[in-house]
Amino acid sequence: MKVAKFGGSSVASASQLRKVADIIKSDPDRRAVVVSAPGKRSGDDTKVTDMLIALGEAYIRGESYQIPLENVIDRFKSITQELQLSDQILLEIEQEVELVLSKDYENEFKIDAIKAIGEDSLAKVLSAYLQSIGIDATYLNPKEAGIIVSDEPGSAQIEEESFEQLYKIRERKEIVVIPGFFGYTKDGKLVTFSRGGSDITGSIVAAGLQADIYENFTDVDSVFCVNPTIVDNPKEITALTYKEMRELSYAGFTVFHDEALIPAFKASIPVCIKNTNNPNGLGTIIVAQKETGDNPVVGIASDSGFVSLYVGKYLMNRELGFGRRLLNILEDEHISFEHTPSGIDDISVIIRESQLTPAKEEKIMQRIKEELKPDTVYIERDLCLVMVVGEGMDSTVGVAHKATEAFSKNGINLEMINQGSSEVSMMFGIKAADEKKAVQSLYRAFFE
Ligand code: ASP
Repeated sequence: MKVAKFGGSSVASASQLRKVADIIKSDPDRRAVVVSAPGKRSGDDTKVTDMLIALGEAYIRGESYQIPLENVIDRFKSITQELQLSDQILLEIEQEVELVLSKDYENEFKIDAIKAIGEDSLAKVLSAYLQSIGIDATYLNPKEAGIIVSDEPGSAQIEEESFEQLYKIRERKEIVVIPGFFGYTKDGKLVTFSRGGSDITGSIVAAGLQADIYENFTDVDSVFCVNPTIVDNPKEITALTYKEMRELSYAGFTVFHDEALIPAFKASIPVCIKNTNNPNGLGTIIVAQKETGDNPVVGIASDSGFVSLYVGKYLMNRELGFGRRLLNILEDEHISFEHTPSGIDDISVIIRESQLTPAKEEKIMQRIKEELKPDTVYIERDLCLVMVVGEGMDSTVGVAHKATEAFSKNGINLEMINQGSSEVSMMFGIKAADEKKAVQSLYRAFFE
């Protein structure tokens, strides 16, 4: 049994949906299908989810939401008309918007329920289309499927009991089409995962159904070993471990949501990334274990938008609880940290800049000065993290040397180095302005 998930670009238009139907038809093992909302048809297009967010935000500001609503309706209309389906769904979208906005919910729950309309409507459209071409398919709402999630709007987590419920889908004779991106809390409220979260639904469904494989259809033939907008025609990765993929998607590989690996990983279900526009291509397979090839490095990722909070104090290593008290101050401001490279008298805490508002920053700096009495404390901005990833690094001598040599040859100043405890990745902190040059020089060093 296979679970197939189709991303936003795969369901962006009627012609893409025809390809999706061909893929479903071509393999009777594809029993459960998970879909995103229509994404971009071309570079300057707008995703339906973004239109729906604009709608919700207009409502919250007390402004008219007619224009974003019309945009959503037009987008679905172009799909239903071309596929010669009834336009009942257009009416249902309008009714759903009015119903959600009239409910006595906090705004964040309303926004989630509005955001989910994209996936929900597309799943209905796809199942109607499959039926119209003679495929026995049915729409299945996540509540009915048993996807129960935590009460965290915009960043739901799956509840364990969901998996047992989902297993019952195996008894169904017809193909089920499930909208991705959302589930329901125990008290029945709709809550979405974080952005890009249809990948998470796909993984949850595959784990629940104990599928043999989770196929994730997107718009690239495979995962590239480096961002193709930074390096032209980079090498493709044929096989990756869950750990390697997790590290790469953490630092900027957007082809697969980093949280989506967990359910598949726990249930030991291989994940295959494939291209809707070239379904016969091999794709990239993500598994628990694989043979290490000649190259200990499988990929290089980079992500900017980080800051480093540096704290220095003489004899820090002797001061019991210093690190805990520092991290407590961050916790009190609801800031999670990414890495904490440290020395005997220094510690740096790497944080995503988006978490640090000016007000929070002021408060944190003040508390550190008062409570920890450091010799030095400052924030360094515009940092980029570059990750060199590969399970094989563990047993290979000289990987760090090769990387730092590439940096020094290209005049890139290293702000910090952090070798993960697992030795699956090596992290380099550099100035964001050097990101491209750094990634290109590492690519040359490891892949050319
Ligand atoms: N439609 C949602 C988003 O754009 C979820 C997804 O596509 O996976 O974030």
